Amino acid sequence: MINTIQDVKKKFDVEDVRKDFPILQRAVNGSELVYLDNAATTQKPQAVIDALTHYYTYDNANIHRGLYFLSEFATEQYENARLKVKEFINAISASEIIFVRGTTEAINLVATSLWREKYFNEGDEVIISNMEHHANIVPWQIAGGRKKINLKVIPITDDGELDLNAYESLINEKTKLVSIVHISNSLGTINPIKKIVDIAHSKKIPVLIDGAQAIPHFKVDVQELDADFYAFSGHKIFGPTGIGVLYGKTELLEMMPPYQGGGDMIRTVTFEKTTFDDLPRKFEAGTPNIAGAIGLGAAIDYLNQFDRNDLCNYENELLNYATARLLEIDGLKIIGNAKEKASVISFVIDGIHPYDIGTIIDTDGIAIRTGHHCTQPIMNRYNLPATARASLSFYNTKSEIDKLIVGLQKVKKMFA
Ligand code: PLP
Repeated sequence: MINTIQDVKKKFDVEDVRKDFPILQRAVNGSELVYLDNAATTQKPQAVIDALTHYYTYDNANIHRGLYFLSEFATEQYENARLKVKEFINAISASEIIFVRGTTEAINLVATSLWREKYFNEGDEVIISNMEHHANIVPWQIAGGRKKINLKVIPITDDGELDLNAYESLINEKTKLVSIVHISNSLGTINPIKKIVDIAHSKKIPVLIDGAQAIPHFKVDVQELDADFYAFSGHKIFGPTGIGVLYGKTELLEMMPPYQGGGDMIRTVTFEKTTFDDLPRKFEAGTPNIAGAIGLGAAIDYLNQFDRNDLCNYENELLNYATARLLEIDGLKIIGNAKEKASVISFVIDGIHPYDIGTIIDTDGIAIRTGHHCTQPIMNRYNLPATARASLSFYNTKSEIDKLIVGLQKVKKMFA
């Protein structure tokens, strides 16, 4: 078989890949940076940085509004980025791709718009889980103002897996939506998302998937998942901050009223009445993050050079190595031991506050996250104020994990 250019994938080599990320060459506190906070945000390859710089240096203009070259060229690049996203997640149409600020805004958009559409009545229920990020809790609590949507919460096992029997028993005639995280940012659990969607669909309930942590780790196909909505953030897949995506099925997005009003989302405006533009512009009021969308397109191009399975397999190798090495440390306990796990490892060490762990290892240039990770309910579930979390990407190495272990041993000695 003859490969087309797109089919020929670059061989994954971690040392080569590291050269693509200039920040990984910098020092912090006199040591080489060891960046292990990829669940919070990922670093940017030079190709993404160049796309942003190039746009602002040569191509900057507002989109959709000008009949001159630069405006049309900027519009073309912005819409081209939408096409890249469409291909990336295998949506049916580019008009199902709404550019937003990130996962948080995507979920707020759905919650607010569905409420306005009177899709929900007071007392209707949205099923979420115990492992949701605050971005998939708070929007549902505030969408209806004083009228409440009730949240029903799927419990989790001690290992950090969803209790699917409990999920099924939560569904009733008041259930209007299931809104669920694909991969937990604090436990690393990969949820059986297709099964969750199928169960909801068998009762004709739509499903929103918070894909913020899934999209950086493996190929997501929204048609295969039959997702009704899929939300993710550009900055977690090596793209810029301030840009993200809400994917929605056309029939749902068509039915939903605009989230914000203003320029670019209208067809006609009088003081009495406004008519709205078609999808996706109905949901993109005002000047969008043009450079951000172009940068996200560049991040997708960057990822598309590789076979995503190679990156995923390498991350799994790192996960297994890091898990084994962390467990060598006396008194260290991993929080979240699901069978299906991404390369996110939360842990606690007996008698040492996670903040102390994070602060001390930072003196050696090692960056991990400590705190509740915007998932306070899961901390309550485990009766913990906080955890330390190392989250790994395909540019991390085993030797960086070794440095983390040396750092943690140093912390242990200081507290002995
Ligand atoms: N959902 C999950 C699972 C996350 O991990 C995050 C961020 O950490 C979010 C939602 C919110 O993403 P953003 O802050 O980019 O909107």
